[in-house]
Amino acid sequence: MNVPTSQTLAASAAPPRRLPRAAMAIAALALLALPLAFRGDFVLFLATQALVMMLVAIGLNFLTGYAGQVSIGHGALVGLGAYTTALLMVDAKWSFWLAAPAGMLVATGAGLVMALPALRLSTWYFALVTLTFAQVVTDLLVEWRGLTRGFSGIVGIPAPALFGRPMTPREVYIAAAICVVLAFWLVRNLVHSRFGRGMVAARDNPLAATASGVSLWRIKLFAFAVSAAIAGLGGAFFAVQKTVITPEDFSADFSIFFLLCIVVGGLGKLWGPVVGTLVFFLLPELLGPLQSWRLAIYGVVLLVLMVFAPQGLMGMPVWRRWQRTLPPPPADGELPAVHTRVAAALPLVLQGLDKHFGGVKALEGCALTAAAGRTHALVGPNGSGKTTTLNVVSGFIRADAGQVRLGDTDLGALAPHRIAQLGVGRTFQTPKLLGEMSVLDNVRLGGFVRERAHAVEVALALPRARRDHDESTAEAMALLRFVGLAGRARELAGDLPHGQQRLVEIARALAGRPALLLLDEPAAGLSMDELDRLGALIQSITALGTTVLIVEHHLELIARISDQVTVLDRGKVLAAGTPEEVFRHPEVERAYMGREGTGGSA
Ligand code: ADP
Ligand code: MG
Repeated sequence: MNVPTSQTLAASAAPPRRLPRAAMAIAALALLALPLAFRGDFVLFLATQALVMMLVAIGLNFLTGYAGQVSIGHGALVGLGAYTTALLMVDAKWSFWLAAPAGMLVATGAGLVMALPALRLSTWYFALVTLTFAQVVTDLLVEWRGLTRGFSGIVGIPAPALFGRPMTPREVYIAAAICVVLAFWLVRNLVHSRFGRGMVAARDNPLAATASGVSLWRIKLFAFAVSAAIAGLGGAFFAVQKTVITPEDFSADFSIFFLLCIVVGGLGKLWGPVVGTLVFFLLPELLGPLQSWRLAIYGVVLLVLMVFAPQGLMGMPVWRRWQRTLPPPPADGELPAVHTRVAAALPLVLQGLDKHFGGVKALEGCALTAAAGRTHALVGPNGSGKTTTLNVVSGFIRADAGQVRLGDTDLGALAPHRIAQLGVGRTFQTPKLLGEMSVLDNVRLGGFVRERAHAVEVALALPRARRDHDESTAEAMALLRFVGLAGRARELAGDLPHGQQRLVEIARALAGRPALLLLDEPAAGLSMDELDRLGALIQSITALGTTVLIVEHHLELIARISDQVTVLDRGKVLAAGTPEEVFRHPEVERAYMGREGTGGSA
């Protein structure tokens, strides 16, 4: 078992600084209350408008900033929300409180339709699709005159009613403010949950996301749905606030405005859309006498931002120290049992695997049986098909022929995220961590498949979601202790040296409590110390019931920890047996040791 070193015990990175966040929240609330102090309705009108924009920007940031899906058509979703609300209120005499949810529903439906191409296209092609989508929607608003009244739009949209009387502008402003605060809070809860980690992983490293059990299309659709629903709500307020809406309100520059807000504010920063919207709203007001210079000033501001804050205002380094707020590491006494036994130890059986890439036969009849709860090593020269074997088992590559069975389950036809969900964890030959995420969050990503709270529970911070959060954090900390990296939990994973990244990746795989763990050259780049730790680690992993299939060049390590070894050469099994049997095999010496030398870590 792993004995914590003095370094890991001193795992007390500075506690998160909460004060500035509280200060920020208080400042925001004060700012929200400010427009109420003005007499007359003009300031309220502007402020309500700003809130509507902020609401939409918060939703767009969820989609574009976190899930990485650039939408240049978001204005159209706002338009659909606005038109649905307005038509239901004006023509059908619905109450705002029913019409607005209907607007949200319509926008969500449209958002999901808009999302479908995103599942296939790369970011920028997809952005163009959203632009086209927006164009189609505005055309529809013009052409479907019978319903939408064409260019002249819908007039006389009444104020929402409260207790049987129309709300005053102040009350509408307060309602919009409540919605903004709510949306901010919901988005915050989601972003800090497994859904947020899954979205960021899907954005930055789809392989890592998939290997952790994240379904890329589901998580993207989810981001679209949330974002579109918020856009629809923004549209509902837009309609009652302006009282007149026309198709021109929702043209392309309307969409681009939101994109500018979140880019200037800082993509993927919680406060980014808030700050960005304020900048774009206040700037023209402050520029009053310089109106004719407006475009030039915008240009200069954008240029200055690109130079000094390429990550947006909220992405500037000054904020960084406040942003990495993670819960403090649990004290020794609070640690749960690191890792309870896996439910059932399962054997892995590979039979007759063939795989070729063009003319290259990567696998030819590859077969092996890894006994349940044991360590099975896969060795062979470079290019002999070891990584391909792991890719076939984890579903990243479909074999041309052959069978993969884990216990009674045939993995052959399953998608990789399904295989991960069934309890297959893996690491990659080159570690695939989320470099911009903390080490701790990287490990928590591995718990994606084990957390149970669904999105609504998470968004509302209901008890099960809070329990998931606490447990996954405690378990990730325990696993980091297990691999000897608890002291670095708060650092960005990308800042760790290569060898430590491998250990973090192992911890991430373990967070899913896998029945089968696939390790691709885990010893490469490790120091002697880390190598010892790795050996002990793998032994304790199998002791907990996990089956381990390890690809490794480091023969001493193999001899020490593995029960069985399979030697591959050009995709074929050259020898199999216990380490002693295999390493004495003359052909193995010729094919493998002759070329690689012993004990090297290639
Ligand atoms: P190993 O991990 O044993 O070094 P690999 O399984 O990575 O070997 O590769 C086996 C063979 O298959 C090599 O010749 C490699 O070039 C080829 N190969 C592996 N993956 C691909 C791929 N995605 N496309 C084309 N050829 C590949
Ligand atoms: Mg390889």
